[in-house]
Amino acid sequence: MYTLHGTGIGRGIAMGHALIWDQEQSTIPMHHLDQSQVDSEIGRFSHAISLVRSELRRVQDTLPESAPPETAAFIDVHLMMLDDPVISQQPVESIAQQRLNAEWALKNHGDTLVAFFEGIADPYLRTKKEDVAQVVDRVMDVLLQSGSTAIESTRTVDTPLDGKIIVARDVSPADAITLRHRHMVAFITSLGGPISHTAILARSLGIPAVVGMHDVLSTIQDGDPLIVDAANGTVIVAPDTSTIEFFERKHTEQRDRESRLTKVLGKAVVTQDNEPVSILANIELPDDVTALQGSGAAGVGLYRTEFLFMNRNESPSEEEQYSAYCQVLKSVSGPVTIRTLDLGADKQIAGARVESNVQVTPALGLRAIRLCLSEPALFKPQLRAIFRAALFGEARVMIPMLSSLQELEQSLAIIREVRAELKRDGIAFNEDVPIGGMIEVPAAAIAADLFARKLDFLSIGTNDLIQYTLAIDRVDDSVNYLYDPLHPSVLRLIHSVLKAGREARIPVAMCGEMAGDTHFTRLLLGLGLREFSMEPSQLLEVRQQILSSRITDVEPIANAILACKDTDTLYQQLEQLNAMSVS
Ligand code: PEP
Ligand code: MG
Repeated sequence: MYTLHGTGIGRGIAMGHALIWDQEQSTIPMHHLDQSQVDSEIGRFSHAISLVRSELRRVQDTLPESAPPETAAFIDVHLMMLDDPVISQQPVESIAQQRLNAEWALKNHGDTLVAFFEGIADPYLRTKKEDVAQVVDRVMDVLLQSGSTAIESTRTVDTPLDGKIIVARDVSPADAITLRHRHMVAFITSLGGPISHTAILARSLGIPAVVGMHDVLSTIQDGDPLIVDAANGTVIVAPDTSTIEFFERKHTEQRDRESRLTKVLGKAVVTQDNEPVSILANIELPDDVTALQGSGAAGVGLYRTEFLFMNRNESPSEEEQYSAYCQVLKSVSGPVTIRTLDLGADKQIAGARVESNVQVTPALGLRAIRLCLSEPALFKPQLRAIFRAALFGEARVMIPMLSSLQELEQSLAIIREVRAELKRDGIAFNEDVPIGGMIEVPAAAIAADLFARKLDFLSIGTNDLIQYTLAIDRVDDSVNYLYDPLHPSVLRLIHSVLKAGREARIPVAMCGEMAGDTHFTRLLLGLGLREFSMEPSQLLEVRQQILSSRITDVEPIANAILACKDTDTLYQQLEQLNAMSVS
């Protein structure tokens, strides 16, 4: 028995046997063709593209009703990538002109596209390299056709996978859905990070997974008995009897807990000592609001509007944005916090790749509000659309990645300008939309009191705040191990932002992943957080944790954690805090 560590996705426990899904295509055939073979090779390539297209459409057509709303969008992304000329046409040119065989041509162009996405600063766009690789892998599988690897039979044959834990280099969103249909119980991958599409999907579908386990394909053997503990990001290989019994008990407890959880929905979100707390949802696309129905979310704490700009060649017009924002505002009762564009500099106009003159900007470069201020033509239509749509609901505008007060002043000046223009043109809009800022750059966190004086609310973006404070790229899995929400510097920053909000008498929310992690709920309550925004799948657990906490109990321990001088004591105190039962 031994244990492997990676990044856990979701909280589930799964037990089963490994099914190696080996996508290592080390033996991609590469050879030159005779002129006489060119036409049939082009035919073979085009056939593979259409097979993959029909396969993806079939997956989309057979999505279960319970599939989360973003699922269809993920598959759309793959369909769009499949139709990208770099994948579907340029290999044909290489076959015709350089007389490369289809696999070689596809590999060359696929590698170029992956490298392109790898060089992009924006974390969301960078994760697209995984989508590209997954689409290329799919076409490659069809081309290879040999059926020599497990992946062929796993993907093309509909045999049930009850009790199987897929061990793969990577799993695409479409594969995750098909494999779930066939009752796969969990998956483990050597690639991937916590914010990839597949990870988001696995979380929503409730599939336990551990990703970013670098050597997993050379460590685990086909058929090995495994336990996947997603909450801890661990995989136990060949567990002994007592370990199996321990996890069986844990699994049963977890199921009981889940069925009890739905019962907390009817109750008001207050702590045991009657302190009201707001729990809100993070959404990416207008259709995501369907996941909020019956979820108990009091509104939307983060609407990541940049998703509207992705996977397309033109930015959405003001009208298109207006109707997207209207759709969300009309269907959500409660506040909808619309975050203005959080894009990187590589895509100022087009939502997707620009063929030439690509400016690859580092993570610390021209992104989010910096980009919007330098491109008012991008920023102003969005603000107009938001203010107009705000007539239909409780909209709030939130500015991402603020780092300097001048930036805030400039943003507020543009907002005033947009309002004046709408008024001048006689266009109906809501004049009282609260304006807030994300605190996700350490500079803004340290000077939060100065930002708080000029804003209606703040929201702590812990994903970026931790990235920038600890100097670790959040999408680089080689430094994932340093990502630590409990780092004293992070806790101190959170604490001082909450204090700044209290002193300025404005609300402070948190919308990074930390807000949806129940390990931190009591700690955050104790530090003074009263507004939590998270992925909809986390809402119930966090709600339950809030209902079972008492502020007067958690506050002193949270303060003790804040004052901790060493990590061991800090973890002990946190454990004590989370284990505390309320009578
Ligand atoms: C954050 O940085 O914590 C955040 C919520 O924003 P995003 O994850 O979209 O960067
Ligand atoms: Mg952020």
